[in-house]
Amino acid sequence: MALQVFNTLSNKKEEFVPLDGKNVRMYACGPTVYDSSHLGHARMAIVWDVIQRYLRFLGYKVTFVRNITDVDDKIINRAKEVGVSPDQLSRQYTFEFWRDMYALNVMPPDFEPKATEFIQPMIQFVKELIDSGHAYEANGDVYFDVASFKNYGKLSKQNLEQLQSGAREQVRNQDELATIKKNPVDFALWKSANQSELGWPSPWGYGRPGWHLECSTMIRNVLGETIDIHGGGEDLVFPHHENEIAQSESLFDKSLAKYWMHNSFVQVSAEKMSKSLGNYKTIKDLLQNYSADTLRLLVLQTHYRNPIDFTADSLAAAKSAVLRLVRAAALHSDVDQNGDVPSKVQAAIADAEKQFSEAMDNDFNTAVAITVLFSLADKVFQTKDATEQKAYAGALVKLAKVLGFTLADTRNEIEPETAKGVMELVLQLRKNARENKDYATSDLIRKELAELGINVMDAPGGATWERT
Ligand SMILES: [Zn+2]
Repeated sequence: MALQVFNTLSNKKEEFVPLDGKNVRMYACGPTVYDSSHLGHARMAIVWDVIQRYLRFLGYKVTFVRNITDVDDKIINRAKEVGVSPDQLSRQYTFEFWRDMYALNVMPPDFEPKATEFIQPMIQFVKELIDSGHAYEANGDVYFDVASFKNYGKLSKQNLEQLQSGAREQVRNQDELATIKKNPVDFALWKSANQSELGWPSPWGYGRPGWHLECSTMIRNVLGETIDIHGGGEDLVFPHHENEIAQSESLFDKSLAKYWMHNSFVQVSAEKMSKSLGNYKTIKDLLQNYSADTLRLLVLQTHYRNPIDFTADSLAAAKSAVLRLVRAAALHSDVDQNGDVPSKVQAAIADAEKQFSEAMDNDFNTAVAITVLFSLADKVFQTKDATEQKAYAGALVKLAKVLGFTLADTRNEIEPETAKGVMELVLQLRKNARENKDYATSDLIRKELAELGINVMDAPGGATWERT
């Protein structure tokens, strides 16, 4: 079976056929860098990481672009709150985002454009939209003329009349805006700004770009007018992606993306996990106590289009499940064992690989693909034969890597707090030996610790230690 992907645009699964042979151009909307990343961001990053890893595994030549939105009202407001410049704030959170992605074993994108590096191309984009009759200037702002694009609403399955009545409700108290815009659903491409704020000069005066324009422009400049896959969280379908389509397709008169893919969200106690609710845990917090593999398993054991219920229990269950995979994978050896592996084992491995591919070909069904990893781990533990164990463990490691698991064996690594406890125990044993006049043992402990780079210092209050 060829790869099938669910396309939000057609609302069904379709066979994946790239526009240009084996080349795949994909774009995922990246973070707006104004705060620490939480599990919702981790989910989005891990989902897109697995999609691109699997496409590469299938032999596609993938160009993956994920942007950084570093100009936005949220950044400006937050910077004011904490008393730094928007530029300082966005750089700080960009750095944090990169650190989190690295810690999560998320592959870096092939290109990572920042919105502020594309201001001139954005101004050019707006000029072309005005020239082609799809946008208009009003009081230093520029708006997209939604009525000029007949397919508006095709992604979110809404029509202009429905949207207009909804928008009228919203602008009822915004009389000024209502008189500036031709139509309440028209959205800003360029917003005028006070000279003291973050902004750039433009033909329409000082101001800054609208968020939707940023993505359309970066896609055009980095990947081209039409791409294979455009993705993001499902909350971006409307208005963000609908507006990207309106901008790009009215200008180029061709599809912006062949496949639109959207991942579902992470909910805590049945409420959507988002910053506005303040009930999130940051990725950094989570990684203090849980490994990247644990968070990855938590994310991937649910299909990307279904919501994840995030609970302490689900996190604990993922942690012990990962430990089972790590124990099994530790029996893997790089030694070429093919000659000795019985044919029934080879057949079982081939069968597991087939099940894995079928699951992933079915719209990246990682929930099923992961069950294949656990059945391989079961086989590792069921057999007593070392060659067979190694063969099954090798197959497990290979498939786990496709999903981005490290299966790093950290079972013997101990935390500083635990190490302190172990040292207290060792010094207590040494003290006991001295009290029993067993100087051979107490000297041995001191000497061995010295070789490990630990000095023991005797003092009236008891022995202490330091690393040298
Ligand atoms: Zn976007």
